[in-house]
Amino acid sequence: MSGAAPKKDPVAVEAEVREKIHLEILKRTGAYHANDHVLLPSGQHTTEYIEKTLVTTEPSFTEGLGGVIAKHFAQWPVDLVLSTGPGALILSHCVARAHPSRPIVIYGAKGLSRGKRRVTLPVEFQRLLRPGTRVLLVEDLVSSGTTLNLLIELVEHLGAQVVGVGCLWRRTSVEVDSKPVFSLVSRDFPTYDPEECPLCRKGVPLNEEFVKRSGHRRPSSVQEPNSS
Ligand SMILES: [Zn+2]
Repeated sequence: MSGAAPKKDPVAVEAEVREKIHLEILKRTGAYHANDHVLLPSGQHTTEYIEKTLVTTEPSFTEGLGGVIAKHFAQWPVDLVLSTGPGALILSHCVARAHPSRPIVIYGAKGLSRGKRRVTLPVEFQRLLRPGTRVLLVEDLVSSGTTLNLLIELVEHLGAQVVGVGCLWRRTSVEVDSKPVFSLVSRDFPTYDPEECPLCRKGVPLNEEFVKRSGHRRPSSVQEPNSS
């Protein structure tokens, strides 16, 4: 037996392969940048970057990925899918469409109140979240887990129950209040201080595009003309 490489657990190998496929899909939307040398708004450097707003721009990809999340939760009855934010809402539609329970889709609105993040549920939706309602939460990217924990609190405050959480991407370090979380990609970006960055040491040019974009470019907007 000497010299034989230890066999990898086939379940782990399959998960690895699936994650690679999902990353490839995200790369094709233009949202995921790998093997780069990126300046982050924090001043740190990283090799990978994801542009959240681009993640759900390809309907067929979003439908496919939403279908994978729905399949994972297919064994549990779900009455309602809840999300917040435009990207997560697009994805949640795709998840709900593919789930055998045919759940309805509702959404909360993200906002700030005295410097603290909050999620508000429109009044029209409140009667749909009742004691006993089985809720699947859907997110696009989970980086800190704050939004998810607010959504969980909202659901439980109304007496409903969270069946689980489905998302496209989760940073591995994020803990979500003891709910089953299923993510298509579970990954942390390695981040470095400039002084300790191995890419700087190798002389790889620094990509400042994403920081410049948020700092110097303004979003496009149009306005209704003044009526006279
Ligand atoms: Zn660097």
